[in-house]
Order: sequence, then structure tokens, then C-alpha cells
Amino acid sequence: MPKEIAVRVPVGELDPRERIKGFGEVCVGYSEEEAVKEAVRCLGCKKPSCVGGCPVGVDIPGFISLIKERDYLGALKKIKEKNTLPGICGRVCPQESQCEKFCVMNKLGADPIAVGKLERYVADWVINNNVEHVSGKTPTGRKVAVVGSGPAGLTCASELAKKGHGVTLFEALHKPGGVLTYGIPEFRLPNRVVEKEISYIREMGVEIELNFVVGKLRNVDELLNEFDAVFLGTGAGLPYFLNIPGENLNGVYSANEFLTRNNLMKAYMFPEYDTPLNVGGKVAVVGAGNVAVDSARTALRLGAREVHIVYRRSRDEMPAREEEVKHAEEEGIIFDFLVNPVEIHGGDGGNVSAMTCVRMKLGEPDRTGRRRPVPLKGSEFKRDYDTVIIAVGQGPNPLIASSTSCLDVNERGNIMVDDRGETSRRGVFAAGDIVTGAATVISAMGAGKKAAEAICEFMIKKQKIGD
Ligand code: FAD
Ligand code: SF4
Repeated sequence: MPKEIAVRVPVGELDPRERIKGFGEVCVGYSEEEAVKEAVRCLGCKKPSCVGGCPVGVDIPGFISLIKERDYLGALKKIKEKNTLPGICGRVCPQESQCEKFCVMNKLGADPIAVGKLERYVADWVINNNVEHVSGKTPTGRKVAVVGSGPAGLTCASELAKKGHGVTLFEALHKPGGVLTYGIPEFRLPNRVVEKEISYIREMGVEIELNFVVGKLRNVDELLNEFDAVFLGTGAGLPYFLNIPGENLNGVYSANEFLTRNNLMKAYMFPEYDTPLNVGGKVAVVGAGNVAVDSARTALRLGAREVHIVYRRSRDEMPAREEEVKHAEEEGIIFDFLVNPVEIHGGDGGNVSAMTCVRMKLGEPDRTGRRRPVPLKGSEFKRDYDTVIIAVGQGPNPLIASSTSCLDVNERGNIMVDDRGETSRRGVFAAGDIVTGAATVISAMGAGKKAAEAICEFMIKKQKIGD
């Protein structure tokens, strides 16, 4: 195979020494010529294995062939047949374990097609040229309440609006987007992209009510009196902790709080926004998923001199995306593998001053198939820190379950659903992290979409029996 077909067109990135000085987007994306050159590599397979790897089934060869013709609006329309958030997915989806993993080019010994970067190119081109217009739908007269405006809620809402159903989306925070807005930092996913894709969903007719905590202002039972169905996409926003001494000291944050203060409350724009985050010189982040890596890179940009990621397993078990780990390494984040915290120490005024950790080794595989970390006796060591960020996972907030009658949850508090997203409560559907626990943007979208189909069928049936 000729080299220009075998090798992926590289994408531009900001220099690590420069980018850590601010929150500018690290990946600059393809230029038009680069995008077309990369699109030309795609073989346009008749039976495209890449599509099977996409949880929402985007017609990948279809949109890529339109890039070859430089018809970017056409390419965007093709993507939006299945995915309303292409600028977001093009940036944060783990393509390496989805569409790109299944691309036939891998089998031919070549680089897989850069599906994500091409998707992002199309979305950005349309945003920059402001050429997308929404066509109206005849209203069906049916109404659905969607709770939570993360990827699951946004997808469910847009799929219902596409069919002409009235949708009101209730969001607890003062900005929509869920983790896309409060969790994932600007240097990976700029806010303007999230805002633009949400404004399109608004133009589709979805009404968004902000600062509305369902379970406090109104509960699901009350929403069911007003709407034909209710969809719950409330995510996994409740942080887990280590339960070790010292976790209540000043300067210990959950990753959720830390990232929310930075992204939603705009700590990174201090003094323009009067909500600073003082991380000090040395920061430890405990955990090794995307949330941990985002926290570490954020702390570095907020002025920390030295940032450690402390993880009890080895690099091979790290759940974060490979691309993010590579970026973190380039930026000088220090990875302490096979290390587990046992105590956080405080100094003057109850502020964090140090953390004691123990070294680990990998033992036999556990239930999940990953090798269990086992502490090495007598290997404790203490290191000075000014800030400790705990990023060891999140679970569901219990508010919805506790304020809704007849809604079954499992032992972890996740809402239980059938394979189409219907809960134990008639007329109530759920999807995303609230069902699966912390997962991915695209899996939340795929499940939100499936639930929207089930909601449509439910409402038609309901109307037929005159309920
Ligand atoms: P969420 O995005 O959590 O949205 C839920 C929304 O519901 C929130 O806005 C919340 O305020 C609202 N809500 C909650 N309770 C109520 C209530 N009672 N009333 C009204 N509203 C309510 N995934 C990837 O694929 N790639 C990545 O690179 C990636 N990076 C991540 C980085 C971070 C820092 C985090 C935290 C997660 C990351 N993820 C990533 C995971 C991904 O973002 C989530 O799996 C996804 O956002 C889940 O979507 P969701 O719609 O289920 O929930
Ligand atoms: Fe193109 Fe790869 Fe999909 Fe084939 S499998 S259509 S080469 S992206």
C-alpha cells in the first residue's frame, strides 16, 4: 500500500511548553487540505466495519465521501441523521476503542482512518461558517419531560423533537451540558462548541429550564401529571472518596468539585471571574481515569509547579484515554504507579501539608479481570503536598430515587431499566451514567437515543388505549 494511504495525516497540536500556560484547546484540528487528504484514505467499504463500532451508528463512509467532495454541510447532515453532537464526539469520544478500532485499515497493516478528527472538522467548519438551519416539524401534541442536560438527556430530547414531540428539559445547574460543561476542561472541549451544539437542539424546539432540581422544585410523580412521559438522564455526579484520615482537610477536593469550580465557575478566568482556585505548588491527584487526568492538567494550568497522578495499579490498567495520557506526559505530569494513599496530613489552619502512601504490587485478577493491587508491607513514604484531588469514581445522586415512588434501583443506587430504557415506573425511562454508572459520552448518547424510541412507542400505545 502506498505510504500516503497507509499513514494517517497527523493533526496539529499546541506546543506542550506553551499550552500549559493557558486553557487553549490542545488539538488544533485538521486544515481543509489535511481533512480532504485524510478522507481520501478511506476505502468507502461496502460493509463498513467502523459503523459497527459506533454506538449511535453514524454512516461513517457516507460522511467521509462527502468530505472528499468538499460538501461539508452535506457531511454534517449525514452525521446528524444519527448524532446531534458531532463537535463534542469528534473531540472526546474514545474512537481508538470504537469506530477506529474496527476500521479495516488495521487489518491491512495501515493506520485506521481518523474518523474522530474528520467528524470534528465537519462540525467546526459548519460552526465557523454559520450555515446550518433547522427545519421545523409538525407538532404531535405529545409532551415529554427530560431531566438532566448531559449527553443522554440532550440526545433523548433531540430525538423526540425530531419527531415533533414537545420537550422540556429540566437542568439543576445554571448551564446546560452536564459533564460536557462542568467536567471536561476547555483545553479538551471548548465551551463554545458545547454551547453551539446545544443551541441547535434549542432551535429544534427543545425548551431548557435551568436551575431546576427535579426532586426538590417538583418531583417525577408531579411531572407525570403534566407530561406524557419522563426521561431521567441525571448522570453520576456524586463523588466517591477514599475514606482515609485527613480527607476533610482544607485543600482536599473531589475531582467533581475541583473541575466544576474551574470550568463552570470559571476559576481559570480569575480575576475576570471572582472565583479563584489556589492550588499551591504541589498537587496530588488520586485515580487514573479521564477525570483524574483532566484534574491534573487543570491543576498544572492553574499554576502548580509539580503535579503527581497517584494510581494503585500500573500504566497498563489506566482507564484514561491514551491520547490524554500522552498529552499529560508531554506536559510534565508525574505518574506514580503502584502507589496508594493511606493518610493525608494537615498543617497550619487545617490545610493539607503532606500525604502518606504505600507502594503496591499486582496480585491475582479480581472480579473485573484486572490484577488486584496488594500493599507492600513497610513501603510507606510521605511527600509534601498543598492540594489533594480525589478522582476515584462517581455514583448516582440519590435524590431522584428517593423522591420518586416505585422506581427500582440496584445496590449501587443506579436506576434499573429494561433493554429499551424503561424503568419499573410506568411512563418513566432512564439512560446514561444514572443507569450504567460512570461511562462515556457516546454510550450515554446511544442509550438516550434508544430510550427516545421506546418513549415514542409508549406514547403512541397510550394514545391508542385512550389513557
Ligand atoms: P451527565 O453528563 O452527568 O449529565 C447529567 C446532568 O443531570 C447534569 O447536568 C446534572 O446537573 C443534571 N442533574 C442531576 N440531577 C438532577 C436533578 N435532580 N434535576 C435536574 N437535573 C439534574 N467520556 C468520554 O466519552 N470521553 C471523555 O473524554 C470523557 N471525559 C470525562 C471527563 C470528566 C472530568 C468526567 C467527569 C467525565 C468524562 N467522561 C468522558 C464521561 C462522560 O462525560 C459521561 O459518561 C457522560 O457525560 C454521561 O452523560 P449523562 O448524560 O448520563 O450524565
Ligand atoms: Fe473507511 Fe475504515 Fe470505515 Fe472502511 S472501515 S469505510 S476504510 S473508516
